[in-house]
Amino acid sequence: MEKLTDEDWMARARDLAIARKGTDPANTPIAAIIVRDGELLAHGINRTQEHCDPTAHAEIMAIRAAGKHSGEMRFPGVTLYSTLQPCGMCTMASIWAGVSRIVYGAGRDDVHEMYFEDRHLSTMDFVADAFKDDLTLTGGVLSDECAKLYYRPWDDVPEEDQANT
Ligand SMILES: [Zn+2]
Repeated sequence: MEKLTDEDWMARARDLAIARKGTDPANTPIAAIIVRDGELLAHGINRTQEHCDPTAHAEIMAIRAAGKHSGEMRFPGVTLYSTLQPCGMCTMASIWAGVSRIVYGAGRDDVHEMYFEDRHLSTMDFVADAFKDDLTLTGGVLSDECAKLYYRPWDDVPEEDQANT
């Protein structure tokens, strides 16, 4: 079988987000996929509202599923694909999980600031400062297609819908 590209996996993640949660930003259609040796290991969908769990971000759900499926607590060598640039929590979780590559679609400048917990720090800063030195980050894969699923920087989002304030 032909090896899937970053774009292929990202398209799968985006399709998964849409299949499970539709295209309305209000439903937070964020998906993450974990790939090991060119094969799907696990995936996750944002479930914060459904589970009343502020930690149920797509990446965390994917990491939990990867642990369950593999019986391991670290996954060195895997690539984590996320339709949206991972927040600080998910970036840190990826470091603890041993993830070797993070690939994301929409970046922080493509979406509303409500998706991030910090004003200035970025995923890059956590990765650059990590003891783990074999983690690489690739952003902007299918960024437009992914960003369409989220509130954009110019959208007027009611304060009560912004979880980070
Ligand atoms: Zn997150």
